[in-house]
Parts: sequence; structure tokens; C-alpha cells
Amino acid sequence: MKAQLDQAAETCARHGARLTEIRRRVLGLIIESQGPLGAYALLDRLKAERGNATPVTVYRALDFLLEHGLVHKIERLNAFIACTDQGTHAHSHAAQFLICRLCGTVAELEDHSITEAISRAAGRTGFQPARATIEVEGVCQACSSLQTSAERPAI
Ligand SMILES: [Zn+2]
Ligand SMILES: [Zn+2]
Repeated sequence: MKAQLDQAAETCARHGARLTEIRRRVLGLIIESQGPLGAYALLDRLKAERGNATPVTVYRALDFLLEHGLVHKIERLNAFIACTDQGTHAHSHAAQFLICRLCGTVAELEDHSITEAISRAAGRTGFQPARATIEVEGVCQACSSLQTSAERPAI
């Protein structure tokens, strides 16, 4: 976790930005939660540590983290997750998210063939896509194997 945060700080520094203490803490909370975290849940956790945190504090930090590709927003859940490629991207990147409707985990994919297929398809209509975030809802591997074993008749 500390290594991850240090790496994030380095990435920011390389791009002439600074991972201030508050930004670092917000990123830390998102990494810690190991699942999507909403802005208000973040604010609650931050307030527990420092009473003076406000929604503006949280949104400013989130904007920064989004801009530098350190977190992603999952629109469908209105929540944030840490980018799995923490620090390797200079800025936000095209990604696909697999959202489990049973356990709520979100897995991140970065499949360039999907991004290219969208660009091609959009291009055929004359549309120039700027950003494409795909959110796929379904059942993760862990939950689907639980389901299958539950469906098996008991002997
Ligand atoms: Zn990412
Ligand atoms: Zn699941």
C-alpha cells in the first residue's frame, strides 16, 4: 500500500503535479476499500480522521486523481476504484470494467481491441469518440462458481 502510494506520488511528480497529503490520503482510502467507494463514504472516512474535511475537499482530490489516471469512476455505481495500473499511465486511459452484480467487485480490463473497435464503428458514422468507458454488469468467477455448486443437487 505504501509502495503503491509512493509510486503514485512519483508518477505525479514526473508530470509536474504534486500528490499532496490530502490527495494521497483519499487515494489511500480508495485502495484500502478494495472495492468501489462512493464520494460520501469517502467523506465519512476522511471526517473520522480530520474533522475539517468537506465535500469540496473530497471532490477536488478525486478530480486530481481521475485526471492523473490513479482512480476510475464507475458511473453505474457512482463510485471510485483505484486504477490497477497505478502509476503506469500518465493520465486517464480507456478501460473496461466488469461489475459483479452479486458481490459488487469491479475488475478492470484494458483491451485495446475493444477501444479500436469502438473507434472504427463510431468513425463509420462520422463520429469522433473522445473517451469510451465500458461498464459490463454480470457475475464474477468467484460468485459463478459458488452459484454452480449451490445448484448442484445435494447427494
Ligand atoms: Zn486503469
Ligand atoms: Zn462476484
